[in-house]
Amino acid sequence: MRNTVFEPPADPKCKSCHGYGFNLIARGEFSSAQKCSCIPLCPLCRGKGTRTIQNESGVRTGRCRCQKLPDRIQYFNNACLPAAQGQNSFETFKHVNKGATLAARSCAAWIQKYTTEKENKGLILSGDVGRGKTHLLIAIIRSLIFGQGARVRFIEFSRLLSTLRDGYSRGESNQKLMHELINVPILAIDELGKGRLTGWERTVIDDIVSGRYNSNGILLATTNYKWGSPQTKGVELTNLAENFDTQTLGDRVGERVFSRLQEMCYFAPIQGVDFRSNRSARLI
Ligand SMILES: [Zn+2]
Ligand SMILES: [Zn+2]
Repeated sequence: MRNTVFEPPADPKCKSCHGYGFNLIARGEFSSAQKCSCIPLCPLCRGKGTRTIQNESGVRTGRCRCQKLPDRIQYFNNACLPAAQGQNSFETFKHVNKGATLAARSCAAWIQKYTTEKENKGLILSGDVGRGKTHLLIAIIRSLIFGQGARVRFIEFSRLLSTLRDGYSRGESNQKLMHELINVPILAIDELGKGRLTGWERTVIDDIVSGRYNSNGILLATTNYKWGSPQTKGVELTNLAENFDTQTLGDRVGERVFSRLQEMCYFAPIQGVDFRSNRSARLI
């Protein structure tokens, strides 16, 4: 998302931000952004960030429009994108084959729908490992934050489980994290359904998905599993060796969660070659 919506505008020829208006720094675990020095001092507020306007209806003081970029940078920094992947965007997504192009197109179509119709139906990207799903998920998140000013939280599924487990082992309730994941306007879960999926882990998925279902929150996700209802109804398919070919997302998360996901999300399969095995098109 090049800087066409922000004022004052970044220098389109800037060698540092390339016209985006911000630079990414991989500090620690998460990717964070900071405003680029090529952005000139705001002529409206002279850098104060607030303005007072006088017209026939009186005097009004409010935040200056130059605060839009710093606000969105803050949203980006709150999104908790992995440090190595914060730069993933639609511009850097490699269209290595038709499947990749179709997947990127589905994502762009979803953003368009979200922007114009304000619909709260999310999107699940499904495909085998190495198809660029996470790249596309992060590209969507960047576009939502910098283009739409949306508040988004990213979390990798197995990391979510380990964070909760660590919290419980320290005697913490994890209430704050769960509250954030349930109530943030857009939640993005990478690798949904990955891992052993014990009864407790399934309860975590259920709590998050049901919570978001009840609060009408938008859910974005990637998964290595095919879309589909549980094949063996009533049987807990836990502790099975992961088998991407035969197991469906429904098998992984259970019937109740899957039925909610069907209502809450569109589904986009990603086919094509493994980007990671294609050296000339190495993405992730
Ligand atoms: Zn710059
Ligand atoms: Zn200003």
